[in-house]
Amino acid sequence: MRIDKLLANTGFGSRKEVKQLIKEGNVRQNNKIIKTAKAQVDPESDQITVLGEEVHYEEFVYFMLHKPAGVVSATEDHRDETVIDLLDEEDQVLQPFPVGRLDKDTEGLLLITNDGKLAHQLLSPKKDVGKTYYAIIDGKVTEEDRKKFAAGVTLDDGYQTKPGQLTILTSSEQSEIELIITEGKFHQVKRMFEAVNKKVVYLKRMAMGEWKLDEQLSKGEYRRLSDEEISYLK
Ligand code: URA
Repeated sequence: MRIDKLLANTGFGSRKEVKQLIKEGNVRQNNKIIKTAKAQVDPESDQITVLGEEVHYEEFVYFMLHKPAGVVSATEDHRDETVIDLLDEEDQVLQPFPVGRLDKDTEGLLLITNDGKLAHQLLSPKKDVGKTYYAIIDGKVTEEDRKKFAAGVTLDDGYQTKPGQLTILTSSEQSEIELIITEGKFHQVKRMFEAVNKKVVYLKRMAMGEWKLDEQLSKGEYRRLSDEEISYLK
């Protein structure tokens, strides 16, 4: 790839700014000064330095965010803060995007990456990736509801959901539940409870496939995925 593209992608500034760095003789490829912004480099095998400091290139970035309520799962929004706004500026350079959506008022695990292939695999209905939600429900969730979810319920638009695995954690005026579903229809959890005449008053995603929300992350915090976590779906 071109050296100016590599440096711009690794946060050394705009194409214009990195051209200036190169022009001033500050960039080296295997210890030889690079003279032109058009120079081709191999980020895998070449040692690239800027002002003596080695450049670590990565094509893909993978983050786990503890999404707080009040931010939208989008890359840009003219009104609301987005999940991407929660990332440090240098982590936005490679233009990551959220893998799927959580509603504005939903909290919990959101993966953010620029790896389109991985995102596609994770969201593909064929892959049947289980999403685990914790929810507080207005009303008493019953064994009958559990059975209905296990068979699949009919949503307001007539869509018949795939089976959902409902675990009742507490059941009284307000109930606490855990629900595992493999689909991601618009407002799916909320609409599944509406189908049994109940209302979700709090919703948090705890896991997606093998990725579990890191309990060390406070709301709004994020971290890079470990190599092991990245390998889960590869
Ligand atoms: N189901 C919902 O209703 N909302 C979410 O944010 C995620 C799943």
